[in-house]
Amino acid sequence: MSQKVVVFSQIDREILMKLEQRYQVVQINPKNGDVNQQILEASRDADGMIGAGRVLNERNLKHAEKLKVISSVSVGYDNYDVGYLNQKNIWLAHTPHVLTETTADLAFALLMSAARKVPSLDAWTKHGQWSRTAGPDQFGVDIYGKTLGIIGLGHIGAAIARRGFHGFNMNVLYHSRREKIETAEQFKAEFCTLNELLSRSDFVVVAVDLNAESRALIGAKELQLMQPHAVLVNIARGSVVDEQALIQALKNRSIFAAGLDVYEKEPLQQSELFQLDNAVTLPHVGSATAQTRKRMVELAYKNLVDALEGRQPQYCVKSA
Ligand code: NAP
Repeated sequence: MSQKVVVFSQIDREILMKLEQRYQVVQINPKNGDVNQQILEASRDADGMIGAGRVLNERNLKHAEKLKVISSVSVGYDNYDVGYLNQKNIWLAHTPHVLTETTADLAFALLMSAARKVPSLDAWTKHGQWSRTAGPDQFGVDIYGKTLGIIGLGHIGAAIARRGFHGFNMNVLYHSRREKIETAEQFKAEFCTLNELLSRSDFVVVAVDLNAESRALIGAKELQLMQPHAVLVNIARGSVVDEQALIQALKNRSIFAAGLDVYEKEPLQQSELFQLDNAVTLPHVGSATAQTRKRMVELAYKNLVDALEGRQPQYCVKSA
C-alpha cells in the first residue's frame, strides 16, 4: 500500500497532482472544521506531511506514530516544535536559499515605500488631493548614501546588504550573535552591538530567524534608540518586534516610518497600524512571486520524497 501524505495548507496544483500519483493524499481544509482536530486525525497513520503556515507540535501530532518527515514550504521553522520532532525522530525539512533574493527585493520595496511614503502618496493622488505641488507633508527621507543597519546578517540579511551597498551606496552596519567576517567584507559591513546599530542607522532591517533570543528583540527601549528620521523594516517574524511599542513609536513620530511584512498574529485583520500613514503594511508576502513560490514547493516536494525513500532531505533542520 502506498504511503500516506498529509497536505496541511494550500499547495501548488501540479505538485498536488504529483503527490496524488505517488501517495495516498489527505488535505487539511479549514472549511471542514477545526484544523488542529483534522491534523490530529490525519497524522495518525501518516508517513509524511507537507505545507506551511500551521503550528505543528505535540498537541496535534501526538498520534503520529509513523510520521517520518514534515516538509515545510518555508525557510522559517518557528511554527514547528523542533525539540518534540527531534525526540520523535521526525525529520523537519525546509526551503532555504530559493527565496533569499525575492525576500530581499521585498525588504527593499518596503524600505523605499516607507521612506518615500509611496502608498500614502498613491492614495493622495488617486483621491484627487494633488491640487498643488507636493509640500513638506508629502516629503520623504533620502535613501542613497545613508546608513543601513541589518539585524541578522544571514542569507536574506546579506542579500539586503548587497542591494544597499552596491545599489544605493549605503554604509552597512550589522548585528548578529556571531560575527560574519567573510560576508561582511563584501559590503564593508561593520559589526555592532544592537544598541549601536539602532542609534546609528537611518534604516534598520530585521532579518533574523525567530528563536528564543530574537523573540521581542526590539521593544520600546530599543525603538527609543532609533533616530527620528529612521525607518524600521521587518521581513523576519512579527514576534521579533513588540508591535504595541512600535505602534506607539509611530504615533509619537519618534521614528519616521515602518515597513512591515510580518506581525505578532497573522493574518492581521484589525490593527491600529491600519490607521497610521507612516506604517506600510503588507500581508506576509516576502517570498510571494509565482517563480519563487514554485521553486519553494518543488524543493519541499523533493525534501518529502527523499525522506519517504529513506534519504535524509537536503535541507533538514534536524537530523534524525
Ligand atoms: P538565516 O540565513 O538563518 O539567517 C538568520 C540570521 O539571523 C543568522 O545569520 C543568525 O546569525 C541571525 N540571528 C539569529 N538570532 C539572532 C539574534 N538573536 N540576534 C541577532 N541575529 C540573530 O535565515 P534567512 O534565510 O536569512 O531567513 C531569515 C528569516 O527570515 C527566516 O527565519 C524567516 O523567519 C524570515 N523570512 C520571512 C519571509 C517573509 O515572507 N517575510 C521570507 C523568508 C524568510 P547568528 O545565529 O550568528 O546570530
